[in-house]
Amino acid sequence: MHIISAEFIKSAQKPAHYPSPDFPEIAFAGRSNVGKSTLINVLVNRKHLVKTSKTPGRTQLINFFLINNALSLVDLPGYGYAKVPKSLRASWGSMVETYLSSRESLKGVVLILDIRRTPGSYEIDFIDWLNQQNIPCIPVLTKKDKLSKNQQIKQQISSSKQLFKLPQDFILFSGKTKAGKETIWTAINALLEKNER
Ligand code: GDP
Repeated sequence: MHIISAEFIKSAQKPAHYPSPDFPEIAFAGRSNVGKSTLINVLVNRKHLVKTSKTPGRTQLINFFLINNALSLVDLPGYGYAKVPKSLRASWGSMVETYLSSRESLKGVVLILDIRRTPGSYEIDFIDWLNQQNIPCIPVLTKKDKLSKNQQIKQQISSSKQLFKLPQDFILFSGKTKAGKETIWTAINALLEKNER
């Protein structure tokens, strides 16, 4: 993907504050600190378009970015940070669920997991829910540079087994080496071309 422009549009909490759905949209979801901001920045060749936060779980808004005046990328707030109070976790859930279930321009979700972690019940439930909603999912295992090649493949197989309903294998990615970047773009472009939603 040739990136000509990448700009922040706005942050929103409620549908009334979302930008108008003029462009096909891809959302990014993952646990806090998983490397979501890093991944988006690598995809769009920018170092600081999405602010990487030192305090996990602080970004509690939905952030909209416009790429090449043609594609919208959405950074969903990271989930699962233990220090966030339960009440906030509930509001996170409803904010993200409202966005995902109502956004007419949404073409799919890139779900990012740390390659060193076993998928948990949250990821299993989330994928089930995406399937029910008929929202395509691109599963990515990031921080692949943290494991040896053998371990990477082991994790790829076991994570796919854990989340057995996935229609495709996890894409392995590293924000450090940028490996996997083009594969993720290919998967995103395939969703944009499907034009089913
Ligand atoms: P976010 O909270 O999901 O947006 O995570 P960030 O993108 O802010 O990354 C969290 C931490 O993980 C930061 O210290 C990053 O430098 C580091 N990180 C992110 N991606 C990678 C990666 O692919 N490899 C390595 N080694 N570190 C990464």
